[in-house]
Amino acid sequence: MIVKLTRTSQAHVVVWEMGRGPGGRAAVRRSRAQPSVCIPHGAPAFTVSSDRFAQLVDELADSGVVDKWADVQLGRALCAQNDISWEHVSAPGLVLYHGKPDFGRACSHLLEESKAECHFQSVVDKCSWQDGRWLLSVGDTVHEFDSLVVTSHSAAHSRWKQIFGRDPPLEAVANERPGDEHLTSLLAGLAKIESKPVYSLLLSYIDRDAAAWNKLPYDLVHVENHPILRKLVIVRDGAAPQRSGCPQHI
Ligand SMILES: Cc1cc2nc3c(=O)[nH]c(=O)nc-3n(C[C@H](O)[C@H](O)[C@H](O)COP(=O)(O)OP(=O)(O)OC[C@H]3O[C@@H](n4cnc5c(N)ncnc54)[C@H](O)[C@@H]3O)c2cc1C
Repeated sequence: MIVKLTRTSQAHVVVWEMGRGPGGRAAVRRSRAQPSVCIPHGAPAFTVSSDRFAQLVDELADSGVVDKWADVQLGRALCAQNDISWEHVSAPGLVLYHGKPDFGRACSHLLEESKAECHFQSVVDKCSWQDGRWLLSVGDTVHEFDSLVVTSHSAAHSRWKQIFGRDPPLEAVANERPGDEHLTSLLAGLAKIESKPVYSLLLSYIDRDAAAWNKLPYDLVHVENHPILRKLVIVRDGAAPQRSGCPQHI
């Protein structure tokens, strides 16, 4: 969206992102304690199902930041009371892609290309619409813009209040524009989005422990019949996707 804006107009685009870097949920996770550990948390693999996205993915592939994951090994773990059986899954026709070295790089690449002005670790606390301009409150400062693109449904969702204890940033706009049917129906649609919190456990192994995991001949594993686990993603050096920053970890 940002790249499209900057390609087709002279717009000066400013990005406010509360995370430490680009990528959102798809960003790679890094450990402050162990800088060499980087885990492709939110998008270890993805499929392409729309023509528009296919075009973007082709461009990203040409730039060397995404690739087809041709030799991906898919597995299924069937859990019984005291045993787990593992089996290969074949998925003819399934084409998976991955970020090179991770999806965060693809996001950084898009932002660099767009030349957008990026502010990380910056939370937009409140959005307001006054005299034809958008006012965004970030910390103690209010910034004015002609147009606003919101890329997160949580900015208008009750989950924001559950997590941060204050009103979602778009709440004020809704109160300011009670007669705006488009906005009202948009917010009503967003409010209906249900969420189901899950835990993501990010583990890094080295040496003998890494060797034990390495014996499992899978990259992505669907776990069945387990009370807690649903999915395993095993990231190893030398396999696609290559993680240049963490060679000794699995
Ligand atoms: C554990 C896990 C595994 C996943 N595995 C896969 C997978 O294998 N394949 C796949 O395709 N997808 C996967 N997903 C889903 C995928 O990561 C998400 O669908 C995708 O990242 C959503 O992108 P988005 O831009 O819509 O939202 P987000 O990534 O949530 O981006 C929204 C951004 O807005 C920022 N933001 C929100 N409000 C504010 C504010 N007020 N001020 C400043 N910044 C704000 C947030 O920090 C965030 O960076 C996974 C997700 C998780 C959590």
